[in-house]
Amino acid sequence: MNPAVAPPADVYIGLGANLGDPVATIRAALLSLAALPGTTLVATSSLYGSDPVDAQGPEFVNAVALVHTQLAPLELLAALQRVEAEAGRQRPYRNAPRTLDLDILLYGSELWHRAHLTLPHPRLHQRRFVLWPLSELAPQLVLPGLGPLQDWLPRVADQAVRRLPPEREAVRLPPASS
Ligand code: AMP
Repeated sequence: MNPAVAPPADVYIGLGANLGDPVATIRAALLSLAALPGTTLVATSSLYGSDPVDAQGPEFVNAVALVHTQLAPLELLAALQRVEAEAGRQRPYRNAPRTLDLDILLYGSELWHRAHLTLPHPRLHQRRFVLWPLSELAPQLVLPGLGPLQDWLPRVADQAVRRLPPEREAVRLPPASS
């Protein structure tokens, strides 16, 4: 098949923030994903709250986005790291902290083990704050190399994760144009 006309892969991106105004940070990051070159933001999960894992500090806000992109995996990783850096530079008031973590959870059915990129994300199946929003977007998803998503969710049921109320939802997407 001519790769130029191959359908875009389903790429799932995990978002997390826990300093400053994390809901605003996640919303801005979703808009940044939509603005990446050759990229369409197809769907976003609800927002979730989770206690820090292996970290101190306030509650994390998490979400998962589905994008279609022409960017290759390493190009996408570099673009996400630029978005993270830009979020870190935002300052709503003097010395306000901001952090944003963006992970490529899945890039289609790609299995990668490279110095700077592992696909699927190596800790994806261990984190309820990833698996729950992912299952909201794609309940039937089969994780490459790991099996059905639904098989993994019960194994993380003891992790404290809350779906945030609708007034704190992510972004409203315009109707898909294609
Ligand atoms: P952290 O921000 O602490 O989650 O880790 C970021 C580092 O993880 C970067 O240096 C990436 O090169 C590396 N990395 C490996 N696999 C992935 C992935 N699937 N998504 C995002 N970063 C990844």
